[in-house]
Amino acid sequence: MPRVDPRTGRELGRSRWLDETYALASQTETPVASFAADIESEAAETMPLSGDERLLSSLSRAVRAGRTPESEPAVVECLPAPAGVPALGRSFAAARAPLTGGFTAFEGNVGTGEGITLPDTFAPTQLEDYAACPRRYLFKRLLKLNERIRPEATEEMAPADRGSLVHDILARYVRGRLDGAPRDLDRLLAIADECFSLAEQEGRCGAPVIARVERSVLMREMRQFFEEDLLEPVEVELSFGETAAAFDVAEDRVEGDKPVEGPALPALEFPLGGGRTVRFIGRLDRIDRRPDGTPVVSDYKSGKQSTLVSSMRQDPLGFGTRLQLPIYGRVAAAFLGWKGSVRTRYWLTSLRREKPQAAYTIDEKILERLRSLLDHITTGITTGVFPGVPGDETYRPSGPTFDHCVHCPFDMMCPVDRDRRWAAEEAAPELAAVVALGEPPEPDLGSIVDMGELELR
Ligand code: SF4
Repeated sequence: MPRVDPRTGRELGRSRWLDETYALASQTETPVASFAADIESEAAETMPLSGDERLLSSLSRAVRAGRTPESEPAVVECLPAPAGVPALGRSFAAARAPLTGGFTAFEGNVGTGEGITLPDTFAPTQLEDYAACPRRYLFKRLLKLNERIRPEATEEMAPADRGSLVHDILARYVRGRLDGAPRDLDRLLAIADECFSLAEQEGRCGAPVIARVERSVLMREMRQFFEEDLLEPVEVELSFGETAAAFDVAEDRVEGDKPVEGPALPALEFPLGGGRTVRFIGRLDRIDRRPDGTPVVSDYKSGKQSTLVSSMRQDPLGFGTRLQLPIYGRVAAAFLGWKGSVRTRYWLTSLRREKPQAAYTIDEKILERLRSLLDHITTGITTGVFPGVPGDETYRPSGPTFDHCVHCPFDMMCPVDRDRRWAAEEAAPELAAVVALGEPPEPDLGSIVDMGELELR
């Protein structure tokens, strides 16, 4: 029985069933120094072992005897030759990659000839994934790996389910206002109640006792939203570009393919310079107008959003992880035929929020910063570099982790020493664009962002 989980370093307790079984507890227990020592021992010849363990045992003793694992008959015998040998050869290369240094294929150096087709259009949230961690973009957006959704396995409501629920409620309520309904708290609460009941029937709200608390918190959040919702809406859930709804999904929402309601605009073309253009598709949450006619574009964010607040304090575009606002602002100006400035904001709807909003007016400095970040991101994608970039070390209740990995669905797939591997490879010339994403803007743009109370008029 292993004493420690090699992935997390946590001590493992022994099963009480062992202690209750006298024969196992006192007669057959033989302490060994390590798994490796045990499997390399002479006793391994006679021990009952699984096929994988037997292969491991054979290879381990071969290495100890000075031979290479690739030359071992066990490697050939255990797999259907000849196809099996190269496959295992790649496994050896993958395991040795961190020791050889540099930015290898096994660390995400995919290159341009590996059958990965780049999309013609991008959703802002897709590119945000690349800026947060290129490997996440590779897994989620190019290889289309998905988390297995198992609502029965958790007692709590998932943050993405909560975010989707909040967006659905607010979209229905604001669409009603556009259809002529007045501001009405009772109508908002009735929609919230109905949507929550539906989500509960689908098993997305956690255990019954948790669901009761979630419902009560949601109703208080809706009251807070109602107090802050004083501008005049002019559009809600505005889509631009085909298939926008399926791809422009922020990290606080469940991916989906909701049908587009209302008008749909063509994709937004954003020139990068040098003849290059990025075509964006997506869906923005809402456009309002101030009394002087200035459009105000809002993107709702549920949850505490401490990462959003801290990154936007240094860079309004959060080092590429907050691209939605300037892109949605351009879409809103095109939709309204507006030539003046556009105000944009993340509207934080949670009771636990760090700040009520993170807002700024789009100007040439913001657009230049957007251009520069898009340049780095598209360079990284088109040259096929997808390293794991975990960020700084942090902590969560289940143990230590990294800033970018806290809510990442691929946490269990990435190696535990991902920070060490990134540190060892970041100087590689292929990674210049990825490294540039982490550099602060010049000049300093952090003071542009307004994190005070929402503008109510
Ligand atoms: S777990 Fe961390 S390093 Fe791995 S893909 Fe996710 S964010 Fe990147």
